[in-house]
Formats: sequence, C-alpha cells, structure tokens
Amino acid sequence: MPETWPAGVIARYLTVGGATVDLTSRLNVMTPPEPFATLAACSGCPAYQEFSHWRLIWQLEGGQDEEHHPAAADKDARAWAQAHAETCRAVPRPTA
Ligand SMILES: [Zn+2]
Repeated sequence: MPETWPAGVIARYLTVGGATVDLTSRLNVMTPPEPFATLAACSGCPAYQEFSHWRLIWQLEGGQDEEHHPAAADKDARAWAQAHAETCRAVPRPTA
C-alpha cells in the first residue's frame, strides 16, 4: 500500500491501530528557515511530542549554555514514535 508521504515527513511508523506516527522538522521563521525541532505526531489520536534540536547544558561554573544536537532530537523522536506506534490502537478516520 505505498502511498505518497506528505511533504516534510522524515520518517513514518505504522501503529497497531493502522494509523501512522509521522516525524517532521519544525522550521523557524528565519530566511532561509532552519529546523529547530523534530515533531512526532500520531494521525490516529491527539498524541504528539516535540524534540528540540537545542539542549540546555548546565555549566560546572554555574549558568547554562545551549548546544545544537539535531541528531539526538531525531533519535529521541524515533524512539517516541516507535513506542507510541506499538501501543496506540486508535483507528484513523476514513477519508471519504
Ligand atoms: Zn496515537
């Protein structure tokens, strides 16, 4: 049943209910737009989770810093999508 993926979908997981969990990049409003987070969203139920590409790092001397880790965000998003796909039994609304 290969159907075309919506634009921007990085990865797609099939849930046990027959819906999908799609991973997409969230883009900021800069020119050109840059991804700042990876979004995992279920098409069968309202569940979604956003994984920021920026991680807050606490410094030993005090204070905090932000580090850019898009690969880590993608990894966490895939893990969330996989886990949700294994448990979500919501059935997608049929398209007329
Ligand atoms: Zn779901």
